[in-house]
Amino acid sequence: MAENMKHVVIVGGGAAGVSVAARLRRLAGGALDIVIVDPSEYHYYQPALTLVGAGAYQLAKTRRAAQSLAPSGVKWERDAAHSFDPAENRITLASGKTLEYDYLVVCPGVDLNWEKIEGLTQTLGKNGVCSNYAPDQAEYTWECLQNIKAGSNVLFTQAPLPFKCPGAPQKIAYLAADYLRKKDLLERCDLRFLTHGPAIFGVPFFANELVKVAARYDIDVRYQHNLVSIDGPAKKAVFEIVGGEEQGKRVVMDFDMIHVTPPQSPPLAIQSSSLANEAGWVEVNHNTMQHVTHENVFALGDVTATPNSKTAAAVRKQAPVVARNILNLMRGGALDAGYDGYASCPLTTAYGKVIMAEFIYGGKVTPTLPLHPAKERWLNWWIKVTGLPLFYWHYMLKGRTWFLRHNTQWSDSKASSD
Ligand SMILES: Cc1cc2nc3c(=O)[nH]c(=O)nc-3n(C[C@H](O)[C@H](O)[C@H](O)COP(=O)(O)OP(=O)(O)OC[C@H]3O[C@@H](n4cnc5c(N)ncnc54)[C@H](O)[C@@H]3O)c2cc1C
Repeated sequence: MAENMKHVVIVGGGAAGVSVAARLRRLAGGALDIVIVDPSEYHYYQPALTLVGAGAYQLAKTRRAAQSLAPSGVKWERDAAHSFDPAENRITLASGKTLEYDYLVVCPGVDLNWEKIEGLTQTLGKNGVCSNYAPDQAEYTWECLQNIKAGSNVLFTQAPLPFKCPGAPQKIAYLAADYLRKKDLLERCDLRFLTHGPAIFGVPFFANELVKVAARYDIDVRYQHNLVSIDGPAKKAVFEIVGGEEQGKRVVMDFDMIHVTPPQSPPLAIQSSSLANEAGWVEVNHNTMQHVTHENVFALGDVTATPNSKTAAAVRKQAPVVARNILNLMRGGALDAGYDGYASCPLTTAYGKVIMAEFIYGGKVTPTLPLHPAKERWLNWWIKVTGLPLFYWHYMLKGRTWFLRHNTQWSDSKASSD
């Protein structure tokens, strides 16, 4: 290795870590020594887990051996980052090994805190308690759905923000409702969507449409209801009301099936590090993704404190900015403030129908295709089920970046309703 070669350590080999490594290889060739640190055996294409839970996609197609995704020339350390010492440009791994770096990229995603809901870990995967958030449980969601009978109570919960893919808890609710409609069971079952938040979706433009979708299926939406405990064998779930006149009150609901979104947090190693803000998330410049105090540290993906929606779509736009900025910093150039908060959430409102929610910081709607973004479309379903997985494996994780730009000038008043 050349003496002046720069070392890049990437913590987390998920959507973000692999994309940045691949992009750096494309931009810098062999001029950088790049190591990805990740303890996982498998990498999942998580956006398709919703479809697996609805019986519309095979779990096996979402899974790859994690290390097989390392771009050529990039080393893979199968270990977890345990502590960070940014003053010394060093991290320590769970094994005790230390790695020194010139540039650090932090992207270990989020931890799923199943244990924060009393009784959940004992019953997840049985008694009708399921979650698409655990890859090995997504097929059980589909099993539960197929077992629903007339008279069943079916609950879908949404955790406190922030959590990854804020649309996922309701996407499975709509697919389940559509499945039950086709089986002529929808009108004979009671479906509820219980969310910690005060609105169905964070972007009002799309929330307006989603309220109509829920009403169409006669899903009873309850706001400010937070799941606190589950008794699987007794088939009872307890919710705490977290706002309004009844704040603090607890309500018990019977269920035959309950789809749970677990509370989520930054990984412990991040929370306890000097890279984290008070809430435990990595604080970076919202546009350059550079850490606010350590200039040779960048972060992206679900672990950052940036106010974008935590999605793989956001990662797709962040990764090229991070790769460019590492090289800009190395060469003494100005940083590129190129990330505008873009995120996309393909909202599966029925089998064969998706509203493609695309937006940037501030909730501004920014569609990529010249089609009215409020509409449920079969084309968007095709993009979700076929286009985006191909794009993810063969394009984004390979460090390719050319893609149609989202339209930041879009305005509802100027749009045709095609
Ligand atoms: C059910 C579901 C549906 C979703 N639907 C969509 C969708 O439709 N569209 C969309 O764009 N996004 C969707 N997402 C979200 C998307 O998958 C994530 O936002 C994206 O994967 C974030 O990428 P990341 O690299 O930050 O985290 P991840 O891809 O989760 O990768 C994090 C990696 O870090 C590793 N790691 C953890 N701790 C450490 C440590 N201490 N040291 C080293 N490595 C560590 C992990 O093993 C993991 O491999 C969905 C997610 C779920 C669960």
